[in-house]
Amino acid sequence: MSYTEEVYERVVAQNPGEPEFHQAVKEVLDSLKVAIDANEEEYRKLSILERLVEPERIISFRVPWVDDKGVVQVNKGYRIQFNSAIGPYKGGLRFHPTVNQSILKFLGFEQTFKNSLTGLPIGGGKGGSNFDPKGKSDREVMAFCQSFMTELSKYIGADEDVPAGDIGVGGREIGFLYGQYKRITGLYEGVLTGKGLTYGGSLIRTQATGYGVVYMLDEIAKAHNDSISGKTVIVTGSGNVAIYAVEKVTALGAKVVAMCDSNGYIYDPAGINLDVVKDIKEVKRGRIKEYAERVAGSVYTEGTGIWNIKCDVYLPCATQNELSLDGAKTLVAGGCKYVVEGANMPTTLEATTYLQENGVYFMPGKAANAGGVATSALEMSQNSMRLSWSAEEVDEKLHGIMVNIFKKVDEASKKYGLADNYVVGANIAGFEKVVEAMKAQGIV
Ligand code: NDP
Repeated sequence: MSYTEEVYERVVAQNPGEPEFHQAVKEVLDSLKVAIDANEEEYRKLSILERLVEPERIISFRVPWVDDKGVVQVNKGYRIQFNSAIGPYKGGLRFHPTVNQSILKFLGFEQTFKNSLTGLPIGGGKGGSNFDPKGKSDREVMAFCQSFMTELSKYIGADEDVPAGDIGVGGREIGFLYGQYKRITGLYEGVLTGKGLTYGGSLIRTQATGYGVVYMLDEIAKAHNDSISGKTVIVTGSGNVAIYAVEKVTALGAKVVAMCDSNGYIYDPAGINLDVVKDIKEVKRGRIKEYAERVAGSVYTEGTGIWNIKCDVYLPCATQNELSLDGAKTLVAGGCKYVVEGANMPTTLEATTYLQENGVYFMPGKAANAGGVATSALEMSQNSMRLSWSAEEVDEKLHGIMVNIFKKVDEASKKYGLADNYVVGANIAGFEKVVEAMKAQGIV
């Protein structure tokens, strides 16, 4: 049995009931095999893989709070400090009823490679809660955030662990979390990113992940003598990543014809009117079906199946495992040429393999959505220097980072004779830097 297979079996045996974590480890280890085999003896001796798949620390805590009816509610809170070889732990907080240790471990593991790919000094972490902000009043969200931060504040700091937003954690939540951190510690420091512009946030951070996904798509297209302009695009989700992916891809001349939320999807053959989506999602916190009620000629369909609409480019920007093998087959049959992941692990392993084997250029989330965390790292730099860069400066840096990530991923895939296999390229390029740092720092 190969070293990677041995470690994968050990992960499954030692982390029972954590299917998402197993899936993420499998994808990474399978694609690292070519690089590991070349140095197997050295890596085995140092137990590099065994250390890489074990989080440095898992913090799990109780989050009690009082709802608007005066009833005491209790949620679970977590922070997974996965790997600090190349910098302080960095990664978002997710508030969603499905959050559990398996999901946060998969996200923290992926984050380690993603952060390495950005070229910036940030380690991997992730956290969150099974709290559902949907349908809660602002006061309830604040009460929850304050209780969550009261415990989390013991374990984070500007040079230690710097959380950010993720699903269910946007500007409102980051504001409440930051206020409580400051109140408890007395420190006004860059301990969270995604902050509001009046208290240390960076311009373009809100747009960064979605814009970065499109910058990545642009690089892949150019590398194959193609262009985004004139393409028909589907973007799944209608949250932070999806909205700004739609904004940028439309600006570059493509037409987005479909978006969704967890209830259903909209199809607008004239091209999505993003102002309407922003009003529904960012202002009214409503449902995507309202789009069809407001825009003539558009159609709403309840449930899944957005991939049945024909497209050239598919940008999954909603959640993990949203695109399965059936969806992938339908996309290929419809002539889709590019799948670039805005969400983390939105494509199942079987679907990924099918897309790659059928001529679709597939870029995994850890490379494609790294613009978000990269811009968070730029926010940390600005906070440390006590200054703010202009939107143009940040956007230019973001663009440069995405171009560079594409280059690294492309080169790594070619180095191992697997050109265009961006899954292998991203994992190997991310892995090499982390491993160099781990080797240099001894057995810790
Ligand atoms: P948001 O909470 O802002 O948006 C998530 C969107 O996905 C919502 O429209 C949500 O709909 C939809 N959604 C959730 N589950 C499903 C489902 N099962 N089927 C269809 N739609 C669904 O989150 P973000 O945009 O911030 O994050 C989206 C993804 O991108 C996540 O995987 C996240 O980890 C990843 N990511 C985010 C970054 C960021 O900077 N925000 C950075 C890097 C990665 P509904 O409202 O119905 O729940």
